[in-house]
Amino acid sequence: MKQFDRSSAAYNKAVDLMPGGVNSPVRAFNSVNMDPIFMEKGKGSKLYDLDGNEFIDYVLSFGPLILGHADEKVVESLKKVTEQGTSFGTPTEIENHLAELVIERVPSIEMLRMVNSGTEATMSALRVARGYTGRDKILKFEGNYHGHGDSLLIKAGSGVATLGLPDSPGVPASIAQNTITVPYNDLESVRYVFEEYGEDLAAVIIEPVSGNMGVVPPQEGFLQELRELTENNGTVLIFDEVMTGFRVGYHSAQGHFGVTPDMTCLGKVIGGGLPVGAYGGKRHIMERVAPVGDIYQAGTLSGNPLAMTAGYETVSSMTEEAYEGINKKVDRLVEGYEKAAKANHIPLTVNRAGSMVGFFFSNDPVIDFETANASDLEMFTRYYQGMIEEGIYLPPSQFEGLFLSTKHTEEDIEKTIRAVEKVFASL
Ligand code: PMP
Repeated sequence: MKQFDRSSAAYNKAVDLMPGGVNSPVRAFNSVNMDPIFMEKGKGSKLYDLDGNEFIDYVLSFGPLILGHADEKVVESLKKVTEQGTSFGTPTEIENHLAELVIERVPSIEMLRMVNSGTEATMSALRVARGYTGRDKILKFEGNYHGHGDSLLIKAGSGVATLGLPDSPGVPASIAQNTITVPYNDLESVRYVFEEYGEDLAAVIIEPVSGNMGVVPPQEGFLQELRELTENNGTVLIFDEVMTGFRVGYHSAQGHFGVTPDMTCLGKVIGGGLPVGAYGGKRHIMERVAPVGDIYQAGTLSGNPLAMTAGYETVSSMTEEAYEGINKKVDRLVEGYEKAAKANHIPLTVNRAGSMVGFFFSNDPVIDFETANASDLEMFTRYYQGMIEEGIYLPPSQFEGLFLSTKHTEEDIEKTIRAVEKVFASL
């Protein structure tokens, strides 16, 4: 059995200092019935905890580290930049470099604004969409997570297409009622919302591949029809690509599916492990943002040189071949999981889009929040604990996908498959 003595001691101290001992809830491991493991360092595909245990990491800081931990180019560039000063409150050239790269690769983005997190990106994009259209209501999808902004921390009420209810105390009902929520992949409900509220809808915001209820891809034609409906109603279509951006593929999810939204939110990979978000889109929309336009949004550390450097080195390293390399490793991993599930009569549904992949303990197709929730969470917990014992560090929730990096080796994948075989046999 692995020992976690130093992690336990650190955790016992942390719970007195921070709510749940953590600075973000999913890190607390509540849903897998364990104490969190405190990490000390990472290199490539590996993580090392305070007690010296080694793990193959499929979390990668929840997505940003597509080059793995402590990539040499990223670290070297960060050292150099740090010595020149960490923030100036002035524009710097590296902001141009990352902006150019993003504009080149993401079809919808003609102009963008850097912020410090995915939450800031979605909050700001919504403000711009509302300012631009002069409308208040937005449509979002059940089980999609867009950060913790008031307008987006909304759960569905009862009924097919519902005016939202606050998902947390502290979100005013008056704000929640401007957010309409419908099931993911449910075009009939979307059409109904447009009939009822089309003229009041400022924006439709969607994860083009959902990554926050496990991985749930859009069904054939879903994104295309959203594009048509929004266009016909003067509604801004926002793709929240905070997770999918530079993860699903070279041109992000919008390139992968060939659907171009009006605005896009980014985060995670474009910061290469430092705090970055961005929102961007068509030039005539983005030119409404201050100081050119009248819609206000600002940030003391936005676009700071360290974050831009880590982001630039990361995104520029991700060639088409690099994505193909990750895809091949995902192919092999999926094959291993499916074979192990079959051999051990484990109910398993695999969802995949490009290099985004998620495994559900369910025999039925997972297409939305309801079907994702039908998976066997108790089995997930036992599987999770077994995999930790085998040295495989997975996202600590059935509702998060796995992340792979360019640094994961074939040996890592084979070792993971052997662990899956062993753990599935014990379930
Ligand atoms: N949008 C999506 C799709 C996300 O997955 C996340 C975070 N997991 C966010 C927004 C919020 O980003 P952040 O945690 O950087 O605020």
